[in-house]
Amino acid sequence: MNLLSRGLLASASLASLTWPVAGRIFTEKLEIDENRSVWAASTPDYQPGPPLASNTTADLAIIGGGFTGTSTAYHFSRRYPEKRVVLLEAATLANGASGRNGGMLLNWLPYDPPRNPERDALIYKTTNAGIDTIEAIIRRHSLPVSYRRDGTLSVFTSARRAEYAHAKVEYLQGIGVPVQFLDRAALAAAFQLEGAHGAVLDPNSGQLNGAQYVRSQRPVLVAQGVEIYEGTPVLKVEEGQTITLTTPKGIVSAKAIVLATNGYTSKLGYFRDALFPVVSHVFATAPLDPANQLGWRRWAGFYDDMDRISYSSITREGQVIFGGSSPIGTAYNFNNGTRFRGSAGEAARISASIEKAFQRYAPGGRNLPIAQRWSGTLGLTLRRNILMGVRGEARNVYYAVGYNGHGVTLANVAGQVLTDMYSGDDEKWRGLPFHQASYTPIPPEPFRWTGFQLFSRLAGHLPRY
Ligand SMILES: Cc1cc2nc3c(=O)[nH]c(=O)nc-3n(C[C@H](O)[C@H](O)[C@H](O)COP(=O)(O)OP(=O)(O)OC[C@H]3O[C@@H](n4cnc5c(N)ncnc54)[C@H](O)[C@@H]3O)c2cc1C
Repeated sequence: MNLLSRGLLASASLASLTWPVAGRIFTEKLEIDENRSVWAASTPDYQPGPPLASNTTADLAIIGGGFTGTSTAYHFSRRYPEKRVVLLEAATLANGASGRNGGMLLNWLPYDPPRNPERDALIYKTTNAGIDTIEAIIRRHSLPVSYRRDGTLSVFTSARRAEYAHAKVEYLQGIGVPVQFLDRAALAAAFQLEGAHGAVLDPNSGQLNGAQYVRSQRPVLVAQGVEIYEGTPVLKVEEGQTITLTTPKGIVSAKAIVLATNGYTSKLGYFRDALFPVVSHVFATAPLDPANQLGWRRWAGFYDDMDRISYSSITREGQVIFGGSSPIGTAYNFNNGTRFRGSAGEAARISASIEKAFQRYAPGGRNLPIAQRWSGTLGLTLRRNILMGVRGEARNVYYAVGYNGHGVTLANVAGQVLTDMYSGDDEKWRGLPFHQASYTPIPPEPFRWTGFQLFSRLAGHLPRY
């Protein structure tokens, strides 16, 4: 642990002396990014449902209409058709990261836990089954969702790291994980990336249009009996055997709730000592021919091995999405801000720096027409571990948060995990690192913002412990 991490932890324990533990009050206004993602733009006919207009009751009330919220609504209402499920979304379905991400539909977790053959095989099996489930839901309900599942690359930018990755692939193949190592020449023949020394191909991963996936499930969920209220921010949560959720025009009295609010969760008063909401920027090109224009002949995308990760996915329609990478492209706002607060000039500087990172990998990508630029909020934990579980004195506050920018698959798995936890048959999830996981605490303001800035500038990457 370095000095900066020690400083962050010391101020965290100081803060815990005064931390409010009960009566979660939503005192801060939820901030929503106003820009529109390429995914949202592809659902032009989406009509949000009406807000909650009177008091109601629920067996389960879900706060948040992204992947976590809709996957929980989906699996729960199939398991318990007789129970009353209410989903409350502050803005529109897929308003959050689920409709603003980089589109990469990935296996694995956002970090590498220490090597453990049994657990590593289980993690891959779990996430791969999660992707299978997404595909099955699309097929079962004939959802109009653009996705592809022809593999993605994890790219290595130094010879030493590529060598390490090669050895890891041999280990993974030995435990039955079907990844493949591509050396520099094999990679260059199929997917030209300047500066890449090798890559690991996961043939079972791909790319998903999250806004289409979430929004097209609306009628399915409604048919399964879920009541969905959009434009309905939860303003206050009062815990108890019956939990009271206050919204602008109605109160929901629920026997159990789900926090499906990932990067926005701190605003509800939960996990303030666990999550940094960070705002991250992305762009999408106009449709092009990636094979001829970029030398990207196969596969759905890639991410790299840098601390400030670059990632790119390619839609079936030929749009190239690119994000991350820039030292100014991912930032923490003072007091858990959940939207980009910078000026137009700052936004332009961020876009320029992300486009520069893209051009470093794809020199042929200079001057490509950009169709869309947007930002989104994700939930970062210091250890990069995801937290799924149940809390509260009455053990009726379920949560799945902290996907660390790796939630397209896992936030969709969350619905199964939380439904099984509710049912008490969650045995099969217990060996997974996110199940009732603990976390390294982070301090309140002003230490949090100061620590984040110091760490990012001095260490050159986002705070991590
Ligand atoms: C820029 C960016 C790029 C990413 N790229 C990738 C990627 O390529 N691959 C990958 O695997 N992951 C990626 N991620 C992460 C992934 O998108 C998220 O982990 C995932 O979408 C989280 O889903 P969620 O449903 O938990 O949260 P969200 O999708 O953020 O949904 C939370 C919802 O809760 C609502 N809400 C918040 N507060 C309240 C309230 N008080 N009352 C009612 N509703 C409320 C919000 O409006 C929002 O709709 C990326 C994230 C970002 C931001």
